[in-house]
Amino acid sequence: MRALVWLRNDLRLRDNPALYHAAEERQGVVAVYVLCERFIERHETAPARLDFIRRHLSILQKDLAQRGIPLVLLRVREAGEIPTRLLALARHENCDRLYFNAEYPLDELNRDRQVADAALADGLHFKRFHDRVILPPGEVRNGQGEPYRVFTAFKKRWLQLASGLAMAPHGLPPRQPETLNSLTTRGLSLEQLFQRLALRDLAHLWPAGEEQALARLSEFCDEAIGDYKALRDFPAEPATSELSPYLAVGSVSPRQCLTAALRANDGRWDGGREGVATWIGELVWRDFYQHVVVDFPQVCQRKPLQTYTEGFPWRWDQADFNRWRRGETGIPIVDAAMRQLAQTGWMHNRLRMVTAMFLTKNLRIDWRMGESWFMSQLIDGDFSANNGGWQWSASTGTDAAPYFRIFNPVTQSERFDPNGRFIRKYVPELKALSDKAIHDPPPVSGYPKPMVDLKASRQDTIALFKALHGHRKSETGDE
Ligand SMILES: Cc1cc2nc3c(=O)[nH]c(=O)nc-3n(C[C@H](O)[C@H](O)[C@H](O)COP(=O)(O)OP(=O)(O)OC[C@H]3O[C@@H](n4cnc5c(N)ncnc54)[C@H](O)[C@@H]3O)c2cc1C
Repeated sequence: MRALVWLRNDLRLRDNPALYHAAEERQGVVAVYVLCERFIERHETAPARLDFIRRHLSILQKDLAQRGIPLVLLRVREAGEIPTRLLALARHENCDRLYFNAEYPLDELNRDRQVADAALADGLHFKRFHDRVILPPGEVRNGQGEPYRVFTAFKKRWLQLASGLAMAPHGLPPRQPETLNSLTTRGLSLEQLFQRLALRDLAHLWPAGEEQALARLSEFCDEAIGDYKALRDFPAEPATSELSPYLAVGSVSPRQCLTAALRANDGRWDGGREGVATWIGELVWRDFYQHVVVDFPQVCQRKPLQTYTEGFPWRWDQADFNRWRRGETGIPIVDAAMRQLAQTGWMHNRLRMVTAMFLTKNLRIDWRMGESWFMSQLIDGDFSANNGGWQWSASTGTDAAPYFRIFNPVTQSERFDPNGRFIRKYVPELKALSDKAIHDPPPVSGYPKPMVDLKASRQDTIALFKALHGHRKSETGDE
């Protein structure tokens, strides 16, 4: 009997525990990928991300075939159809076990529970592995056994636990015997799988595949990681790894990233090259938000993590929202960032915070509108990281930080794009301005005036949060 491996956002051969363990048994493996139309709609998967998945599958299908593992492509309308389709495939292809790697947002957990129940009822053995995080949800707890709500404390505990673990990534899945790789099922072709879906090919910026991801990782660890701490906040510098799209579809694993970073520092977690510990800190943020969606599943239902912020009077002004989306706010750094997103499917981390704070704190527009827009555009769209970033910026989430921490986009611009290089790249209307004037420009023909008074809107938002916070204090008697 063979094993069925269900691939999702783990589109790689190396360090893929579900695939590795199935293949290690050398009794034959069938891999399957199921595209769910409802999930694409509900999760607002960006056309750039869908196309990135398509290109990854094309490569993976060939790579798997070389190891004697056929990849079947299936498409369903509703997630509820998945259990039946997987069980039918398992029966048809003589598989008695189903292996997959865990995903943590609520929809995905519910989908997987349904599959697990159906498998159990049908006598199909199943196994779930953890590859999407370095430490699985539930393993990082405070002294009372509770989940952390604040990153700094989470990170401290995470480092204690992770630094004591042996962390060798799995290698390639062993090749399967030739006689076991024939299929009787006819899945869809890649063209059929993505038929009638909006796709955006950004291959010139984001070439697909595990080899590309690993090459980026080693280039980053060889060249840029040492300066990461000093340069990571400057969007005009190529200082960050730009691995997020690859981590999102799983063509590289976080464990591979961690071990490469440690290797670049002679195995040391701190000391040595300065940027290494800072970069590892980013991988911890990534784990943190995946833990948050499991421990606080309300965040997957469009609710804030901080319940007291539910009553905040967000605005839903479509005209203002459209100006933000299009990069026509009249605040150069915000516009440059929104245009970077539109053109490349990606945005620098510092600017994700700046644009999200501008939308939520200056325009006071509901963070959920911004969260959706990002998901619909980002090639690295990842529910946990995106929701975490938006709730952090809107002060509804995990930050200890207080709502009165509001970035001033002009000050951020002066600090992190001091000579306006990034702004000039994406807002050519302002090209001729001096390095000083470009952050807060005088009237320029063809470029809008600022759509909001930054100072006054900041004060209004703080006052509204303060009122809400005061109300919470009088309700609960605590801070
Ligand atoms: C409003 C907002 C929305 C975001 N949406 C997403 C998203 O949809 N997908 C996504 O992967 N990241 C998201 N992030 C986090 C972060 O901006 C990106 O991961 C980062 O910019 C990716 O660039 P990089 O690969 O060069 O990162 P690097 O700086 O090289 O960091 C390495 C990796 O660590 C992880 N990481 C870094 N910062 C964070 C963070 N703050 N939270 C979680 N993981 C992090 C990413 O996987 C990243 O690839 C969001 C942040 C904010 C503030």
